[in-house]
Amino acid sequence: MNPLEILKPLFKEIKAEAKIIPVKKIVLHRWTRLKCMHGCEMFGKSWSCPPATPDFNEAANIISEYRRAFMIKLPGSLETQIKLQPLLLEMEKKLVSSGFYKAFVFFSAACGFCKKCSYPEPCRKPVMKRPTLESFGIDVFETAKKAGFSFSQNHYFTILLLE
Ligand code: SF4
Repeated sequence: MNPLEILKPLFKEIKAEAKIIPVKKIVLHRWTRLKCMHGCEMFGKSWSCPPATPDFNEAANIISEYRRAFMIKLPGSLETQIKLQPLLLEMEKKLVSSGFYKAFVFFSAACGFCKKCSYPEPCRKPVMKRPTLESFGIDVFETAKKAGFSFSQNHYFTILLLE
């Protein structure tokens, strides 16, 4: 089944724009993690952010095991991104149950399932936590540009690794 057809109703529900891109188009840079380490208040405070996430080489190796991915333009503010996280997990789940068993979604913001993340104590909901794009060294802006998306202020992006 066409993965775009599987997720179409969910994309429509939240007014998201999605494209399937070859994973080779995902741009990885070490400086994105530099920005996580120096300049982001979530560093060392969330299981979805460095240093809790795989290091750059490991992250790049993981991504290279995929061939195609969804790039998804999500509407709304940072607060909205947290609210959308259950839906992103639903997208991943729908794909897995449709045979895309490798499907894996990133979050467009640090995991927000708890009021305050338990890091470095064990995650309270490990089944639900996912890493951020930047924690994997993904240059979101450059990747979105390469994928042909237009930009505006009230949008975030995420990636769902497909197969
Ligand atoms: S589920 Fe809770 S403890 Fe786990 S990463 Fe998310 S916010 Fe942190």
